[in-house]
Amino acid sequence: MRKKLVSTLMAGLMGVMLAACGSASAAEGAAEAVSTAPDSAETVSTSAEEASTEAVATESASATAGETSEDVQAIIDRGVLRVGVKNAVIGFGYEDPLTGEYSGLEIELAKALAGKLGVDVEFTAVTAATRTELLDSGDIDCVLATFTITDERKESWDFTTPYYTDYVSVLVEDSKGITTLENLVDATVGVSSGSTSAKSLVSAMIEAGLISGDGFDPETFDPATWTTGVKFQQYDDYPTISTALSAGEVDAFCVDKSILAIYKTEGRSYIDAEFSPQEYGIATKKASGLSAVTEELVTALLADGTIDSLIKENGLE
Ligand code: GLU
Repeated sequence: MRKKLVSTLMAGLMGVMLAACGSASAAEGAAEAVSTAPDSAETVSTSAEEASTEAVATESASATAGETSEDVQAIIDRGVLRVGVKNAVIGFGYEDPLTGEYSGLEIELAKALAGKLGVDVEFTAVTAATRTELLDSGDIDCVLATFTITDERKESWDFTTPYYTDYVSVLVEDSKGITTLENLVDATVGVSSGSTSAKSLVSAMIEAGLISGDGFDPETFDPATWTTGVKFQQYDDYPTISTALSAGEVDAFCVDKSILAIYKTEGRSYIDAEFSPQEYGIATKKASGLSAVTEELVTALLADGTIDSLIKENGLE
């Protein structure tokens, strides 16, 4: 894994100063070239006042967990918090292809978390398919990557209180003439493996009375085997789904609207439906000390209006 060290002076302890986001138009042009493979990591220093932030961080972690837990202490000793982020979701986690700089709400939350611990932050680009493996293996300490909180996922990982709610939508080529959920009956839809998207679409189509709910069990639903009224092709990353949509390999591309935004190029439109609220939380290993620290951070930043401001500043309203 190639690692690059970038030192950035952070003005405040929480490190929530915003760099301007990459412009949408520049990003759109680059969208297809952006790889979501976790092949690089970038470390950003959050330690302008390292000595003092470290003391505060240790106190803060202690306040949460009674005493600093082993896993949190290991991060402090390492001096780097390793965070899995998206690299092509404008406003959430976006890596400028020219400068390699990351920006977005989730990037700022990651920096704030590192600032709270008094350590640097290292970003690793993850996909819906890789983020949990990398968390389980310990390659990353937490996931801040448009990761939807679900009951099923909560059995395997801890999630903070949500910091943002998105919705699922569907992107199509205008030439297909698909404009509504109804038009998706019998379509083949591209989704990312490891995502909630296929299940969300099937639920929405069942609720709208468009397809039969017989045999639909949210607990055991598998996009690979579902064929009632709509079919799915699963891909490892979003650029590949976008290419498949252009090639007519799939009729539609379904995922959270925030993720679709970068792929909505000329000649493509969203269908007239947004469904299945997606609440994003920071995910950490189950029962880890870091879970308590992330929860404390998110609740504090929600309470003091920081998250609201970050949402506005990143154009996510
Ligand atoms: N947010 C959805 C999920 O967690 C869509 C996939 C993604 O985040 O890439 O499943």
